Amino acid sequence: MLVVMKFGGTSVGNGERIRRVANIIKNRIEEGNNVVVVVSAMSEVTNALIDISQKALTVRDLTKVNDFIKFIKEKHYSAIEQAIKSEKIKNLVKKIVDSRINELEKVLIGVTYLGELTPKSRDYILSFGERLSSPILAGALRDLGFNSIALEGGEAGIITDENFGNARVLRLEVKERLSPLIENNIIPVVTGFIGISESGYITTLGRGGSDYSAALIGYGLDADRIEIWTDVSGVYTSDPKLVPNAKRIPKLSYIEAMELAYFGAKVLHPRTIEPAMEKNIPILVKNTFEPENEGTLITNNIEVDNKIVKAITTIKNVALINIFGAGMVGVSGTVARIFSALKDVNVILISQGSSETNISLVISEEDVDKAVSSLKKEFDGVKKGGFLSNNLIRDIDVDKNICVVSVVGAGMKGAKGIAGKIFTYASEAGANIKMIAQGSSEVNISFVIDEKDLVECVRTLHKKLIENS
Ligand code: ADP
Ligand code: ASP
Ligand code: MG
Repeated sequence: MLVVMKFGGTSVGNGERIRRVANIIKNRIEEGNNVVVVVSAMSEVTNALIDISQKALTVRDLTKVNDFIKFIKEKHYSAIEQAIKSEKIKNLVKKIVDSRINELEKVLIGVTYLGELTPKSRDYILSFGERLSSPILAGALRDLGFNSIALEGGEAGIITDENFGNARVLRLEVKERLSPLIENNIIPVVTGFIGISESGYITTLGRGGSDYSAALIGYGLDADRIEIWTDVSGVYTSDPKLVPNAKRIPKLSYIEAMELAYFGAKVLHPRTIEPAMEKNIPILVKNTFEPENEGTLITNNIEVDNKIVKAITTIKNVALINIFGAGMVGVSGTVARIFSALKDVNVILISQGSSETNISLVISEEDVDKAVSSLKKEFDGVKKGGFLSNNLIRDIDVDKNICVVSVVGAGMKGAKGIAGKIFTYASEAGANIKMIAQGSSEVNISFVIDEKDLVECVRTLHKKLIENS
């Protein structure tokens, strides 16, 4: 079997863990599998890179850059020290890590002096997290006696457009690049999260994108299985950090997993499922810290069991935009114009009131300014007097203190009365429902509440719909 194994940030959070990961890979190989590894940055590193690039831009103080470089050096040096025993391998890996950190330092000094940080340079800076962790894991594998080489996403054949920060895949050259290595028993350790554009610039696939990298590589290689190794024992009935009683879900269909990931189950990047589904490659979610646990298996089997509701997810850091205006009634094209104004914004949920006098949208908090200004631009000047007084749209209201709760399960399809139950329990938990949307797939009902009511609402729904059913 050909297995793609992806390890997340916590799984490679220090040298001891990297060694543990190398041993998990060793077990898979000893079972007779060929393996391709995908690895994230060590935990906290991507966040720290975002933070320092912002500081370099705004604070423009070189001591901040120096402190950061010291932190990154210590973190990766001590990981090398713990993960690798052979002095020879250690020194080789140190050389690679050293030259990358020098490069990173120069880029950050550049940002500090220039006071300029483009999306392109930001992606370049963010790529260092994975470009530093991958040589260490490849070194740890060589230390265990395997032949292994670290590759960047681009080198592994992930070619993207130049939509920096959230690049789209244009084509894959994964087979050409990786098959010769696999045939020669060399284990590729590929950086997650990053690709390369046609003109040779490093791009990133969005936060949490290493899962997606693993799916792309699995797709490109026609792998037999994609394994996502993380810090929990699979996909749970809710985020175990939010709902202490959440339970592992042993089996999920691709559609359910896709809805779960899209509506906030951070354990899988939302775009991970599609490539796997297209080639019918099973995804197995496993716990690095409890490898004997069976985890969650995601396949095309829709098991409509007696549990109608499989999981409850949440999305935070979003905003609710309400667009009002009696002028929208019967005016064809208004909705199209709203969408054309929002073409660069990721709209998570939409609903239109039956009176047609308002449209509600949920978007990411960081897109609010962009969305409101494009809406104003689109509708301003329609009638003299400007945006707020034109007849088409009377007002736009933005609420940033909200969150989305989604109830997911293939068994909900056609199940009568489930929506009623959900909203009754939510209001019993004290939550005021501000918007409702049901996906056309009918395996999901989502609604918007105030963020302050989130924990109580999710725990109540979990208890009533999952624990007590
Ligand atoms: P990694 O670094 O391995 O990619 P992430 O932090 O991205 O790990 O994802 C794992 C985390 O996802 C878990 O620690 C958990 O808190 C969170 N999570 C949110 N929803 C779920 C869910 N439904 N099932 C499992 N984990 C979830
Ligand atoms: N390191 C990247 C992030 O933190 C990608 C990933 O971990 O999947 O977003
Ligand atoms: Mg992740």
